[in-house]
Amino acid sequence: MFNMFQKIIFTCPRCRGLLPPHIANSFFKRVNYVVSNILHRNIQNRSQTKLPYDLSEFPVEKIRNFSIIAHVDHGKSTLADRLLELTGVIPKTNDNQQVLDRLQVERERGITVKAQTVSLFYEHHGQTYLLNLIDTPGHVDFNYEVARSLSACQGVILLVDANQGVQAQTVANFYLAFESELTVIPVLNKIDLKLAKPDEVLVQMKNVFDISPQEVLKISAKHGTGVEDILKAVIDKIPPPTSDVSKPLKALLFDSWFDQYKGVIIHMVVIDGLLKKGDKIASASSHKVYEVHDVGVMHPLEVSTNTLYAGQVGYVITNMRNTNEAQVGDTFYHENIPVEALPEFKSAKPMVFAGIFPSDQSEYNSLRSAIQKLTLTDASVSIHSDSSPALGQGWRLGFLGLLHMEVFNQRLEQEHNASVIVTSPNVPYKVKIHGAKNIKKYGAEEIMVLNPCNLPDKSIIADFQEPVVMGTIIMPDDYLGNVTNLILDRRGLLYDQTYIDDKRIMVKAKFPLSEILIDFFDELKSMTSGYASFDYEDLGFESSSLIKVNFLLNGSPVDELSLICHTSKARSLAKHVCAKLKDIIPRQLFLITLQGAVGSKILSREDIRPLRKDVLAKCYGGDVTRKMKLLKRQAEGKKKMRKIGNVEIPRDAFIKALKR
Ligand code: GDP
Ligand code: MG
Repeated sequence: MFNMFQKIIFTCPRCRGLLPPHIANSFFKRVNYVVSNILHRNIQNRSQTKLPYDLSEFPVEKIRNFSIIAHVDHGKSTLADRLLELTGVIPKTNDNQQVLDRLQVERERGITVKAQTVSLFYEHHGQTYLLNLIDTPGHVDFNYEVARSLSACQGVILLVDANQGVQAQTVANFYLAFESELTVIPVLNKIDLKLAKPDEVLVQMKNVFDISPQEVLKISAKHGTGVEDILKAVIDKIPPPTSDVSKPLKALLFDSWFDQYKGVIIHMVVIDGLLKKGDKIASASSHKVYEVHDVGVMHPLEVSTNTLYAGQVGYVITNMRNTNEAQVGDTFYHENIPVEALPEFKSAKPMVFAGIFPSDQSEYNSLRSAIQKLTLTDASVSIHSDSSPALGQGWRLGFLGLLHMEVFNQRLEQEHNASVIVTSPNVPYKVKIHGAKNIKKYGAEEIMVLNPCNLPDKSIIADFQEPVVMGTIIMPDDYLGNVTNLILDRRGLLYDQTYIDDKRIMVKAKFPLSEILIDFFDELKSMTSGYASFDYEDLGFESSSLIKVNFLLNGSPVDELSLICHTSKARSLAKHVCAKLKDIIPRQLFLITLQGAVGSKILSREDIRPLRKDVLAKCYGGDVTRKMKLLKRQAEGKKKMRKIGNVEIPRDAFIKALKR
């Protein structure tokens, strides 16, 4: 159906000629979004309210908990659709429903950002099994979702695109599963594609993961070919959970959501015992007791079952009021029957910090509650209060990457109707201070600087450290020369190069995180015609020669624009930001001077010339409608602006200023 759409839309209805790709693409995206929303609403309307089985019929031997992991776009959500159809959870269609991508942002961007659970029933060897499937995101920024999901699983389906081959996040996700000692079922997807090179990809899988080609299942998630074999392999190869229903209740909270009507919904895996509606359960971390109002499984939406038994995965609704009571990784037990808590989850380590402020200070409280609700569905965001002279009271939030930050803001606007100003993102820095008096003032010898405005004076800094990461790039070897230059330009250090087949190479390089944060991946993609994939892992902090660059608007420093960068890059960064701001800030009735400076030394300068005439002056008395239109447009424009000193700057200027 979508292919048909694409053909019709790419051809201009009047001249029958091809439309320019950008128009066709944006139009196609819109149609895709609208159609998929209609299909999705259909699913919601027709979703089941009763399970075909009683969960007590599924002792642990008949349960399998697994996850689908893969690089972005290798077909996880499409495969999940087919598995849901095959097991009768949703009706069979040939459309791309992506049932488990439930958020608006996921459907608009076509990516999964939130892991989703669904329970399936499947008959094999004459027995019915309960399979709990978790669909996960593929992008590095949402890796915490994958890590968390794996805690509820005993195995994974590792999906690899037969055309794209093994990519950077395939490697990262494989090692996540491998380190958690999960059974891996390797699957080659998209074998229907004309450009598929299954043999080459099998060689890559052998070289990188030591997976023998005979082990790999070959499927087309789009057409459903071979998908049934996956369900059989899941039952035959993945071990059942090692749970015991006769032991006291022990349940792990691995995810949480906020529902406008139902409040906090927690997702749990019952490790031992059983959990019933009406039970009183206590949290091992806070010892608070909650009453269970409802329990059930996702099928694909919530279906109440009254009880969850050992080994099963489902949702639980309690009288939990406060969104921050649902701690991911927390263990729950029956009141007065405490059990040993499971090891705590490694908390997510934010890599990017940005200030978030309400567009209007009167919206501070509603924004606070929106942020709290949203962080309940995304435990990897860290929150600190912040304030700024120009933007008022707000927060400094920590994210796992720039895409994560953009998605979070989009969700704030779409799901909570909040309008926010986001300041330029930066990485966290570690600073060692010297002098007993200074140490006393800052409370410690070593401090973390999350906001460049709070950087101590240069004269008292003994050591300045920035975060570094180990990057993995996989690409065809033709691009190696150009990519090496890019790595060096970004202060990267080449570590290792290995061929994963006779044409594709995997390069490992150490980078300062700040160098790859904003536009490294875009540049890498355009340099390699889209063939390179990139992923990174945290390597801690390293000393570096860093400096703070300030920006001045008409001579007054604007704290919100301060940046920290490597000394060698201060001048080029100052020039770049001033030039960018010149494009972003609209001309106003007076001259605006933009300057970039280190201390008192000015490194760059741009002027924005004043508007010469008032455009409205031309509209003489008679032309009322034109005057009204102009005034309306000006008023709308102003809503998207923020005043700093006497200069109006657009709300998104801070982020745009850093992009190339
Ligand atoms: P995810 O990011 O891993 O969840 O990937 P998606 O499920 O969103 O799929 C990405 C794109 O690949 C979508 O446009 C799918 O229609 C397409 N796709 C998925 N599986 C297949 C397949 O087996 N064959 C073909 N030709 N396309 C597929
Ligand atoms: Mg997906």
